[in-house]
Amino acid sequence: MRDSMERKMDDKAEKLAGYLRAGRNILIFTGAGVSTGSGIPDFRGPQGVWKKRQPVYYHDFMRSEAARLEHWDYKLEGWEAFREARPNATHDAIVSLERAGKVLAVVTQNIDGLHRLAGTAPSRLVELHGTNSFIECQTCGRRSDPQPHFEYFRRTRKPPLCDCGGFLKPATISFGQNLRNEDLERASEAAAKADLVVALGSTLSVYPAANIPLIAAAKGAPYVVINRGATDHDGLPEVALRIEGDVGEIFPPAVEGALAG
Ligand SMILES: [Zn+2]
Repeated sequence: MRDSMERKMDDKAEKLAGYLRAGRNILIFTGAGVSTGSGIPDFRGPQGVWKKRQPVYYHDFMRSEAARLEHWDYKLEGWEAFREARPNATHDAIVSLERAGKVLAVVTQNIDGLHRLAGTAPSRLVELHGTNSFIECQTCGRRSDPQPHFEYFRRTRKPPLCDCGGFLKPATISFGQNLRNEDLERASEAAAKADLVVALGSTLSVYPAANIPLIAAAKGAPYVVINRGATDHDGLPEVALRIEGDVGEIFPPAVEGALAG
């Protein structure tokens, strides 16, 4: 029994390596399961932060000082806990594929900045849900380094303001805030040109992000889904290969195999 399961897994790993070997314009789509290997918990999982805290909606952030304080307090907690987080083998494997000239775009739902830190080219990277790597003014759009703002907030407990008077906020997409059109367009354009799409560590349940791989699949690109636990795309006819399990154990060796052969 165990033997046949292992053989089935080997077949799938071999298939995955074959797809990666053949791909010339690969779209990589990533979710929280890619970052758990770097010690960043899945916000929506059973131990997720939203079980403990109420998310602050964008509308409230813009209208209430108490909501801004709550949001900054939550963000400070994350910043202190995860500022030392480093990319893991999956982030690095994506960069290896990229340097081999095979990656068209990396579209991520993650806000931790780890793809950027691993070396994915900013021109190929689309952070659909924004990033914690910058603070952004909600009035003039100016971006700045998070550290001084968090230190100011920790010291004063006052949500920081921009020189222009606008509210500063980590450059992540808040609940109730629309995704940036420019990001959605870049992701959709890449998806339409991809010859392979690989979704890594995402439950594919958050839209519109989860539409991106489907755009590529609709254009005929083979669609590979690797995730531990069920995804909303399981059983769709577009999915050419579904591998159940930890991305960090499955994806890096497949990339190594594909680039070696
Ligand atoms: Zn400003």
